[in-house]
Amino acid sequence: MPTPHNADQSHSGSNYSRRGFLITASAAIASCKAADPTAPKPAAVASVKTPANPGYRTPAVQGPIPRNPDISQSRNFSKDAGVTFSRVLVSGNYVAMTFDDGPHPQNTPRLLDLLRARNIKATFFVIGRSVDLYPHVVRRTVAEGHEIGNHTYTHRLLSKLSDSEVRKEMTRCRDAVANAAGVQMRTMRPPYGGLLQRQRQLIHSEFGYPTILWSVDPLDWKRPGPSVVASRILKGATPGGIILAHDLHAPTVDAMPATLDGLLKRGFKFVTVSQLIAMKKQPVAAAPSTQPDTPTAGDATAQTAVSAPLPDTL
Ligand SMILES: [Zn+2]
Repeated sequence: MPTPHNADQSHSGSNYSRRGFLITASAAIASCKAADPTAPKPAAVASVKTPANPGYRTPAVQGPIPRNPDISQSRNFSKDAGVTFSRVLVSGNYVAMTFDDGPHPQNTPRLLDLLRARNIKATFFVIGRSVDLYPHVVRRTVAEGHEIGNHTYTHRLLSKLSDSEVRKEMTRCRDAVANAAGVQMRTMRPPYGGLLQRQRQLIHSEFGYPTILWSVDPLDWKRPGPSVVASRILKGATPGGIILAHDLHAPTVDAMPATLDGLLKRGFKFVTVSQLIAMKKQPVAAAPSTQPDTPTAGDATAQTAVSAPLPDTL
C-alpha cells in the first residue's frame, strides 16, 4: 500500500501497483543513479514476511581458518610460581585468552564453536551462580579442553568483603564448578580486578589459587564494537600476555574471529593460563643486572606492584 507521503497518491490503485513494481525493479538494477522522485519508498513494497530461521549463526569467515598448533604443555605449575600474574615471562610467542563472567547460554557455546574451529584452548573465569544456572555449558567447556577459573559466586567486589565472605565466594564457586563438571579450578580472577594483597595471599594459601589479572584489556564490556575490540587486542598482545575479554557479551564473541585469526597470523600460540604459568622462566640466580631495581616482567611480586585494579563488568 502507498504511504500517505508518497508522491504517487493521485494514481489509481492498479496503475500504481504495476508502475511501482517496475520502478522498484529498475532502481534495484541501477541503484547508483539518482533516485526517481516518483518511486515508492521501500517500506511501501516490503510487505513480504520471511519465516524465522532458528539455525542462523554468524556467517563463517571466507577462506581457510588458521589453526593453533597442538601444544602438549603441562598445566601443573608450582605453588611457588607466584601469587599474582598479569603476564608471564616465557620463551616463545604464547598468549592466554581469558573470558570472564560466563557461562552464558548462547554466547559461550558460540564462542566454543569459534575456538574449536581454530584448535584454541582458552580460560574461562566463571561466575558460580551462572554455573548453577547453565551447568551443561560448563561441562561442554571442560570437555573441549578449556580451563575454568574461579570468578566468585556472586561477582562482588572482594576488597570490600570480610575474610569469611571472601572464603564463601570462593567456596561456593568452587563447589558449583565441581558439581557441574567434576573439575577443581587452579586459578582465580577477582571481579573488577579488586583484591587486596593480603586477600590474594589468603586465597593463595587456603585455596591454592594464584590471582590472575591481565596485560591486555580491550574494555569490551563498554561495547565499542567488534572491530575496535579486535584491534585493541591485536595492538596490546605481547608474548606471555594474558588477554581479558567477556563471553557474556555478544559483540565480544563477534570480535573473536578477527581477533583470534589476527593473533594466529602474527605467530602467537594460545595456551591456557595454567599452561602459561607452568612455562614461566625461572630467573637465573645471581644474574648480573644493569637495573637491579627494575622489576622483571613475569615476576610475581613485580606483577602485584604494577597491576592496577581495572573495571570489569556487571
Ligand atoms: Zn567479572
